[in-house]
Amino acid sequence: MERTFLMIKPDGVQRNLVGEIIQRLETKGFTLVGLKLMSVSRELAEQHYAVHKDKGFFAGLIEFITSGPVVAMVWEGEGIIASARKIIGATNPLSAEPGTIRGDFGVTVGRNLIHGSDGSDTAKEEIKLWFKDEELVSWQPTINPWIYE
Ligand code: UDP
Repeated sequence: MERTFLMIKPDGVQRNLVGEIIQRLETKGFTLVGLKLMSVSRELAEQHYAVHKDKGFFAGLIEFITSGPVVAMVWEGEGIIASARKIIGATNPLSAEPGTIRGDFGVTVGRNLIHGSDGSDTAKEEIKLWFKDEELVSWQPTINPWIYE
């Protein structure tokens, strides 16, 4: 089964969207295997967004991600990396389709509510960066035969 790293950003936590966001992934049929509310250190934020370190928005992005608690999560399911990106929607919430998290709840790119890994290599790296092995729980939901044929 594929796993991905998702993080509800400080704006999603402050706007009380934690339950709504988790519910969208649960009702899709995906499985939560890791979850923690945490403050993000500057070091972790910079490592997570290292690919953007030369961009003009980098400093603001690091300020934002470290400005309040986030909810870090690992989710599991068939095809979840690409599917979660669809559920999240386009980076700029004004371009994101209605029905997506960013399309339904966001307005500006610097407050786009949630992060999702963009491929299988980054998913593995991000899960390792944010979670210890013992913080992840492997389990088989009894409902799965009603979700997977
Ligand atoms: N970002 C920003 N301004 C920009 C572009 C990106 O603040 O002009 C932030 C935004 O929070 C985005 C994150 O940087 O989610 C990472 O950008 P990326 O292009 O990887 O988008 P994502 O994978 O999150 O959709």
